[in-house]
Amino acid sequence: MNENYEIAVVGGGIVGVSTALHLLMRGAKVALIDRGPPELATSYGNAGIVGTFYLLPFDPPPFSQMLNVLLNRLPSVHIQYRHLPKSIGWIARYYLNSRREQRRILGRLYWPLIADAIREHKTLMQGTDAERYLTAHGNAFLFRTEASFASKSLELEEARQRGVPYKIMSAAEFGDIEPDIKPIYSKALYWPGNVRLTNPGAVVTAYTEKFVRDGGKFLKAKAHNLQSNGDAWRVETSNGTIQAQQVALCTGPWTGDFFRPLGYRFPLEMKRGYHRHFSAIGGAKLAHAICDVDVGYYLCPMEQGYRITTGAEFAAVDAPPTPVQLDQVLPYARELFPLGEPVESKAWLGSRPCLPDSLPIIGPAPRHKNLWFNFAQNHAGLTSGPASGRLLAEMIRGEKTFCDPYPYRADRF
Ligand SMILES: Cc1cc2nc3c(=O)[nH]c(=O)nc-3n(C[C@H](O)[C@H](O)[C@H](O)COP(=O)(O)OP(=O)(O)OC[C@H]3O[C@@H](n4cnc5c(N)ncnc54)[C@H](O)[C@@H]3O)c2cc1C
Repeated sequence: MNENYEIAVVGGGIVGVSTALHLLMRGAKVALIDRGPPELATSYGNAGIVGTFYLLPFDPPPFSQMLNVLLNRLPSVHIQYRHLPKSIGWIARYYLNSRREQRRILGRLYWPLIADAIREHKTLMQGTDAERYLTAHGNAFLFRTEASFASKSLELEEARQRGVPYKIMSAAEFGDIEPDIKPIYSKALYWPGNVRLTNPGAVVTAYTEKFVRDGGKFLKAKAHNLQSNGDAWRVETSNGTIQAQQVALCTGPWTGDFFRPLGYRFPLEMKRGYHRHFSAIGGAKLAHAICDVDVGYYLCPMEQGYRITTGAEFAAVDAPPTPVQLDQVLPYARELFPLGEPVESKAWLGSRPCLPDSLPIIGPAPRHKNLWFNFAQNHAGLTSGPASGRLLAEMIRGEKTFCDPYPYRADRF
């Protein structure tokens, strides 16, 4: 195969497929390249929440807990020690960005990609069957201690200022919504404006099918080399070469495989996360995704079962799995909800691609003509993916952009 396209989008997770669809809607001849299978992508295995509660960058444990973090004593964080020399500088920069005022600033810079996320998803859902995975039952945080509730004060302040609805509830009040959650917590923080996708991987597949139906070319292949003749690009893949005037790199956690050979040194770190599905005992039911804040995991009702997702593991993207956090959080989850047996034999592993300021890179490559980046949507990429795709498509087509792309520029590093 040796085909010519206006734009080749490499990577077909939520960010890549959204970028490809938005380019197609704008009349471009687009090829979308993904190596599959979908279960490899981060967009497959997340907690499924799409919502405006991503008001601030994800907060690390308090600095006073640093020793416990480094000794792998907290279930919310795990470090593979052989990776520590690579990640320690990144972790230091992340902590510097986690000061209160800096979090507020960074949260506001990310906000344009979040504010209209539900509508952005609904635009892509049109003409697909993805809406059947959309539920209005969003998510809630449960706090076992008053101290952990107090740690969310900045989030609540920002929610009030940005008009994001929330309800603070007692365990008895929240029990009316979720009667099968045991009232062993002191408070719930309910986000009524959020929604969830009960099978995010199937939603990405539905968007890909729409892309193909509307005339896009989907190539299931591993891209292994990018070459430019100064104007156009050759994308060499395991299934032939694609020629394209422009290339958009949307390869999430694997984007370093492409930017490093081109000479870029972005501080892209992985916060890996695991999930596993469980049955429920005695017909117990849960409608919303629950975050057990003091412990650091999510329990989410999904198509495949009750999905437990873990916090962050610092490790190389392709290092062998060490799902110890799942073992650590499982007793807490069982205390909260009557979980039964695991549905599958082993845990799923994915990687949140993160930069130390928790903002993505969306825009042109600084030193290569007709090369574009769209990656590092960190903890909130299922939410921000469609808006990120729209923003990059508007930039590539030279349109007026719906928000200022300056905070996401690549040359800030
Ligand atoms: C446990 C967990 C829970 C999360 N929960 C939420 C949540 O509730 N809400 C939310 O908004 N976000 C959540 N996130 C974050 C979100 O899932 C990610 O930010 C988002 O999925 C990243 O999307 P992406 O398209 O950039 O990357 P990916 O989905 O990983 O897609 C990258 C794609 O690139 C392809 N690729 C890579 N290299 C090549 C190559 N050489 N050739 C061809 N193709 C290639 C891969 O096959 C893959 O399909 C969570 C993440 C995790 C890990």
